Amino acid sequence: MRKQFILFACGIFLATGLCAQVQKAPDRKEGEGPWPQLIIRGVILINGTGAPPAGPADIVVGKNRITNIVMLGSPGAPVNPQDRPVLAPGGKELNAAGMYLMPGFVDMHGHIGGAAQGVSAEYVFKLWMGHGITTVREPGSMNGLDWVLEEKEKSRQNLVTAPRLKAYTVFGQGSKTAISTPAEAIAWVDENAKKGADGIKFFGAPPEIMKAALEENKHLGLRSACHHKQMDVARWNALSSARAGLTSMEHWYGLPEALFTDKTIENFPLNYNYSNEQDRFEEAGKLWKQAAPPYSEQWNKVMNEMLSLDFTIDPTFNIYEANRDLMRARRAEWHEEYTMPSLWKFYEPSRQSHGSYWHSWGTEQEVSWKENYRLWMTFINEYKNRGGRVTVGTDAGFIYELYGFAYVRELELLREAGFHPLEVIRSATLYGAQALGMDKEIGSVEVGKLADFVIVDANPLENLQVLYGTGAVTLTDKNEVVRRGGVKYTIKDGIVYDAKKLLEDVRRMVADEKAKTGFKITQPGF
Ligand SMILES: [Zn+2]
Repeated sequence: MRKQFILFACGIFLATGLCAQVQKAPDRKEGEGPWPQLIIRGVILINGTGAPPAGPADIVVGKNRITNIVMLGSPGAPVNPQDRPVLAPGGKELNAAGMYLMPGFVDMHGHIGGAAQGVSAEYVFKLWMGHGITTVREPGSMNGLDWVLEEKEKSRQNLVTAPRLKAYTVFGQGSKTAISTPAEAIAWVDENAKKGADGIKFFGAPPEIMKAALEENKHLGLRSACHHKQMDVARWNALSSARAGLTSMEHWYGLPEALFTDKTIENFPLNYNYSNEQDRFEEAGKLWKQAAPPYSEQWNKVMNEMLSLDFTIDPTFNIYEANRDLMRARRAEWHEEYTMPSLWKFYEPSRQSHGSYWHSWGTEQEVSWKENYRLWMTFINEYKNRGGRVTVGTDAGFIYELYGFAYVRELELLREAGFHPLEVIRSATLYGAQALGMDKEIGSVEVGKLADFVIVDANPLENLQVLYGTGAVTLTDKNEVVRRGGVKYTIKDGIVYDAKKLLEDVRRMVADEKAKTGFKITQPGF
């Protein structure tokens, strides 16, 4: 029993002593503001609600809140200076003419590293903020709840360069023995709320315990996330959780199981061993095919019931992408400059690191995962079409996915699933905020909300890749190869960060570490 609580699918080592804590973020040296008034001039606004782009517009911020949004007429037409808001004394103007402004991004599944990856909070935070991510749900940290709450509070006061944090504790974390009765579950949930957590991250448990914990958590008004690991899905799947009050499911496990019609258990090979990650991830790639086909009776029934429960799905497509194209994930162009040596080592094939299950991964595994994605994406896109809330989460730090960069990749994968780019941005902003219960404060650019923005000097709807820190490759009329985009400014609480400088800091951290250790990225086996 206890063992089940120790090694989690996300690779979080819960048992104390297995891993040290991550180095906390240093005092903030970056960012300017907030000012009594900040006017961001001339932007094309994508407000996060699903509205199409409009502009030019001047966005007026008082300290850390949006106080006015002034539309300035037709693009390209001369703007009458009298139509523009006048800067108040002590105010600051930011010229962003022609740039695109969106609400700050919400990452619904962001672990602040772990000692096994050997990265500091500063490294993770700057990669996030450098990609416009201003709010992150920490879905259970091996650093412990107190550690996360401390960083959360420092971020709230902007003492550190970091996104707003929401702390969800791994269910059972900190308890001396495994939770084995509903009464113990309820006591743990009460204690978790008392400590100040924002929610709970489950990985599955016996049904009576899941039910008691979810109901109590909901009763207390807290939220929850669940990665339904294969050890418990035969008796408690994603639909069971939704019925008991889970507010969001992570990844996808537990969903095909709710869609079984000709079996009740995944078709595990008889020599399968869950503790062998090659088995686990290889067989998972065959799972969607075992579920009811798209638009069949059972598929519709489960989807519609989840919709009626206002259930959020946080698919984290990106974190499984290496399964369908390992070389792509391994050779991503940012690894060279942005991936910390210790993190690279963590990614490489290993029987020890979580998510490094490349014992023998080739054409057969990749082809079945491609089919898995097709069926999975069909469900997610239709869930969105029927009014369901689909959010953007990454789970980066595993499986060759890098903080920040993984977020943009997740946006691209939602696009691939069939989302219009405006639907993608809404999932990244307003829907994330709703899922966290923060939509009165963040998630869209509207008067009264907090001044959290992403500004980029290229149109992200035309090419989401302009949001990558490495930009998007473009050929000019003069046959020059240039890179466009990369987030220009990330604004949180009215504080303006030069996003490119944040990423420069990350590159320096990586270069320093490489110089110290003489480390070079190599390909496995070469
Ligand atoms: Zn995770």
